[in-house]
Amino acid sequence: MLDYHLHLWPHAQREAESTVEQVAAYCEQATAAGVSEIAVTEHLFRFTQARDLLWGFWETDPERALHAGMAAYWDHHAHVDLDDYVTVVEAVKMEGLPVVCGLEVDYYEGRMDEVSALLAGYPFDVLLGSVHWLGAWRFDVLDDPLTMAEWDARRVDEVWDAYTRAMEELAASGACDVFAHPDLVKVAGRRPDVPDEWYDRIAEAAVVSGMAAELSSAGWRKPVGEEYPAPPLLRRFVERGVPLTTASDAHALPEVAHRAGALRRLLEGAGVTELRGYRSRRPHAVALSAAVGR
Ligand SMILES: [Zn+2]
Ligand SMILES: [Zn+2]
Repeated sequence: MLDYHLHLWPHAQREAESTVEQVAAYCEQATAAGVSEIAVTEHLFRFTQARDLLWGFWETDPERALHAGMAAYWDHHAHVDLDDYVTVVEAVKMEGLPVVCGLEVDYYEGRMDEVSALLAGYPFDVLLGSVHWLGAWRFDVLDDPLTMAEWDARRVDEVWDAYTRAMEELAASGACDVFAHPDLVKVAGRRPDVPDEWYDRIAEAAVVSGMAAELSSAGWRKPVGEEYPAPPLLRRFVERGVPLTTASDAHALPEVAHRAGALRRLLEGAGVTELRGYRSRRPHAVALSAAVGR
């Protein structure tokens, strides 16, 4: 088992720093849970380098009422130096602990070449690609009344369509290696009656781009109460040969390797025997049985 989606800091924490001790503790907890390797994948928007490059991207969204919320969100989060983060994770890796260095990268419409150029300056092992935002709408920040007002104002089909289009464009950009939480758009529990068309398109985007997809326990901690991706989407990935990682999307030590054993049983039930790991953004196979999740 892998835990290839880990954050060092909860969203509520504004100021943050990377430490060798914290990354080493993540490795220890993962190993104890039967996970053979972790990837630390902090949000790109945590870093001052992202702030310098991307600040204000939301202003192209005609929904001006959403701009201030996104600006405040970025102002809250973007305080860490990317060089320090990479140095710390690499140092732990060099000690021989089972960790690789990654990031969780959002989709920025029309800006992914600039994002890739920034990231090319760092020795990342794996880059997760995510869609958390549609324009300036942070659709997964469910404790924000503005977010929920948008959920009430928009048609569910249209939201899923816009999400899927962003996923397709993210995949086509070639900027990332793994789709994080591939059906995150279900997070609030609002789904179309027949989501097949969108599942087909997300699976197709993975196949065409060569991206892997993660199976994540994070959805079990959200209102939707279901792993990402939903069983019909996981089935499509498996049938079409899309490589898989496993992930907790922990934002603190107690969540590291959360329900790794349950993820393993889902994969075994789907006939999956192999996961995908990464070094220097090059993939390799990891036997599902390499370590046994609880
Ligand atoms: Zn995410
Ligand atoms: Zn995440």
